Amino acid sequence: MSGRILVVDDIATSRMVLRAKLAAAYYDVIQAENGSEAIKSALKYQPDVILLDVMMPDMDGFETCKILKSDPKTNHIPVVMITSVCQPADRLRGLECGADDFLTKPIDDLALFARVRNLLRSKFMLDELRLRDRTTQELGLAEFITHDKDIVPPKARVTLIPSDYEMGLLWEKALSENTPYLYKICENDTQPQEFEAQELPDVYVIHARIGAHGDGLRLVSMLRSRPRTRNAAIILVVSDGDHATAAKGLDLGASDYIFDHFDPLELVARLSSQIKRKQISDRLRSNVTDTLRLAVLDPLTGLYNRRYAEQHLGRIAERAQETGKEYALMLLDIDNFKRVNDTHGHVSGDAVLKEFSRRIQENLRGVDLVSRLGGEEFLVAMPETSEEQARLASERLRQVIEDTVFQCSPNQGGLRITVSIGVTLGDPLTLDVDKLISQADHALYASKSEGRNMVTLFNSAA
Ligand SMILES: [Mg+2]
Repeated sequence: MSGRILVVDDIATSRMVLRAKLAAAYYDVIQAENGSEAIKSALKYQPDVILLDVMMPDMDGFETCKILKSDPKTNHIPVVMITSVCQPADRLRGLECGADDFLTKPIDDLALFARVRNLLRSKFMLDELRLRDRTTQELGLAEFITHDKDIVPPKARVTLIPSDYEMGLLWEKALSENTPYLYKICENDTQPQEFEAQELPDVYVIHARIGAHGDGLRLVSMLRSRPRTRNAAIILVVSDGDHATAAKGLDLGASDYIFDHFDPLELVARLSSQIKRKQISDRLRSNVTDTLRLAVLDPLTGLYNRRYAEQHLGRIAERAQETGKEYALMLLDIDNFKRVNDTHGHVSGDAVLKEFSRRIQENLRGVDLVSRLGGEEFLVAMPETSEEQARLASERLRQVIEDTVFQCSPNQGGLRITVSIGVTLGDPLTLDVDKLISQADHALYASKSEGRNMVTLFNSAA
């Protein structure tokens, strides 16, 4: 996995050492010798990871990190702070400035590369989600969802998997004093499938040494491979100084790690940053799904909209060409619908449209596509349908609308509604869907001009 890495250090030799190591692993390396240059470079080159020296004259690493993390153009870029003496207080300060991790000089290669790979992987995943989110916005589909900036995400859930229950109680006590999250401690005899039970957590905190289910690393890789737990964050707790296990954990998909006998506040800071990231990716993910779903559905009736129907009709035509079987296309238009709206109001009009959609859908097969083209006009596409079947089906639809009055509100009597229908048959030899729609439209026009509440087949209308 290649990526662009910005190395920031005030000492030229330190930059050279890092540059050489990273370039040898085929990363694209850019350099900056102070904080303000780093900020400029980050804006201009959009690196995938920033390795940031803490001790620098003028603006130090903490200050630089804070600025990078407060600008929306750079706040998504992961930052690893590099320091010669790493006191717990410094780490905490860095995490509070938004840093993603710390490395101590002289830099251990294993730790460096594992961390870089891991940060690149999660950044690329988020970049992809951001890109899809932007695509839906550019397609003009974003109008379909209302973004409520003030929505408070539900309380984050954290599952603790310690090496023994006593340790879990200590973790929980320290964490719940400092955070508003919901905690659950897993006992040692927890079966792997229970990790996938309902109420999935946002974050798992897993000790690398857990008894009953093999080891913590195996659990990390299991959680990453299952669809239900794949998107959760994982913080691995490893024995103090065990860089090898930490590196392995990151490669297996842990989001972060912390050395055992940690300062509780450091775990709090790491937990909070993982939860924030998880909430951002959850939101992006659901934006994309919701947008796509809403982009093909008519919000009032829940039927497919014109955009979808046209696409789908093309596919039915292609399929007919393969099978050599005819298909039918109907256009339906509610008679004198304007009068319903004018006399009884739009609320009643909407109720009629909903009830109409329900009856049509209930009286067709599952394979038939029902869509609302707009206003009171509907399209039905029936794959593998003969002329006789199309005639029977459309006559049945006409009747289910006419036979029972529409009850729109408890205070008024039922409304008598009728529908005019135009039907045409799709020739498996042609893919010209537009021509088909215009034939059905001609037939519909004939039904209207012949007195409404009737079915016309295109051939007989010609
Ligand atoms: Mg320095």
